[in-house]
Amino acid sequence: NKQLTNDQLTQWDHDHFFHPSTHLGQFARREMSNRIITGANGVYITDREGRSSLDAFAGLYCVNVGYGRTEIADAIAEQAHELAYYHSYVGHGTEASITLSKMIAERAPDGMNHVYYGLGGSDANETNIKLVWYYNNVLGRPEKKKIISRWRGYHGSGLVTGSLTGLELFHKKFDLPLSQILHTEAPYYYRRNDLSMSEKQFSAHCAAELEAMIEREGADTIAAFIGEPVLGTGGIVPPPQGYWDAIQKVLNKHDILLIADEVVTGFGRLGTMMGSDHYGMKPDIITIAKGLTSAYAPLSGSIISDKMWAVLERGTDENGAIGHGWTYSAHPIGAAAGVANLKLLDKLDLVSNARNIGQYLNQAMAEALGEHAHVGEIRGEGMLCAVELVKNRDDRTFFDASEKLAPRIVGKMLERGVIARAMPQGDIIGFAPPFSLSREEADKIVEATKASIIEIL
Ligand code: PLP
Repeated sequence: NKQLTNDQLTQWDHDHFFHPSTHLGQFARREMSNRIITGANGVYITDREGRSSLDAFAGLYCVNVGYGRTEIADAIAEQAHELAYYHSYVGHGTEASITLSKMIAERAPDGMNHVYYGLGGSDANETNIKLVWYYNNVLGRPEKKKIISRWRGYHGSGLVTGSLTGLELFHKKFDLPLSQILHTEAPYYYRRNDLSMSEKQFSAHCAAELEAMIEREGADTIAAFIGEPVLGTGGIVPPPQGYWDAIQKVLNKHDILLIADEVVTGFGRLGTMMGSDHYGMKPDIITIAKGLTSAYAPLSGSIISDKMWAVLERGTDENGAIGHGWTYSAHPIGAAAGVANLKLLDKLDLVSNARNIGQYLNQAMAEALGEHAHVGEIRGEGMLCAVELVKNRDDRTFFDASEKLAPRIVGKMLERGVIARAMPQGDIIGFAPPFSLSREEADKIVEATKASIIEIL
């Protein structure tokens, strides 16, 4: 509404809008400014003051095909005109939700053929934990219920999913984690304690830590292990060589299910359709969200293996219909956005672009900043990249947290017209651009990062 002045909107914003993941006091006291986004096209967003920024984080690593795709907007509008809503309980569906299920099954690893829908990554992971518990109850092992996650993992911010998340900010003052949820070591090679370990040795060490936890607790009490193929919000950390093979062996040995949380990696971000394929993981459940619709509409999913499906089916034969449903499961508008988005990914071969331009971005970042005295590590995979800053490269010491280094650098980058993300834990600057990024746009990201780091450090 152009009648409203920026001052009016800003007043309402500070007075009434409870923003997620925001310092409420600072925002209310206006020690932090707001930003009202009005439009976007390609990899650029614009705000109400007419400023344009290259979004090198694709929103929250979700607008994978880029902004302003009319194919998806049209599909949403058509669906809204024809049928804005009907539920999917007791066998109801829409052409969009049925077609999307088939398309997801075709893109999932072999033997994963059923999709349950939610609205976001958090509720999908809540579904997953319930399904794992149901599964073990049907199999007659009611004690096998604990879930192992990793420190630095991110799986959402609900009660269960906030517990699965292994970042202190998401636990503090919320009485989390819940007692059934345990955390094991993060596969964070750069931050390993024993520097003499090779990547493979560190992977074996992480697997041994996991197995020690399983044996301490008793394998008959552990239901599942959940992990992102590449740690995302915890710092954009690809796993060390051999990690998933080593973990998978331990899980198989102790009959523990694997949930691959592919909310970030699903549908192309690593340069392969699924992150599980990239690392040869054999999950029983895959969580999908962001890249499923490129965030044009809220939609998430849990892809279930045939092995689990058979038990769930048996469970309903024995106990009646499954008591789990959301009003908006498989919402037609989300499903229509999903179909159009997956078609666009194929048509423009954007997964290959994520691989090729992602590699270019990572290399250019390493060339520009690899030798800087305060850059400890530059790492990435596909269209993901992170720059980790350290006080001292030799012993990898941290800057004092009160210096708020990464947020300050990200602030300087914004002044140069580029949005990056200060990751929540550690001095890590994260990049996850849309897959449609060009080389010139990648160069612009690297230049802004370099100039801002040099300005502050
Ligand atoms: N899982 C992963 C790996 C995520 O990165 C996120 C969000 O960033 C979630 C789950 C939670 O998704 P949502 O914010 O849609 O609830």
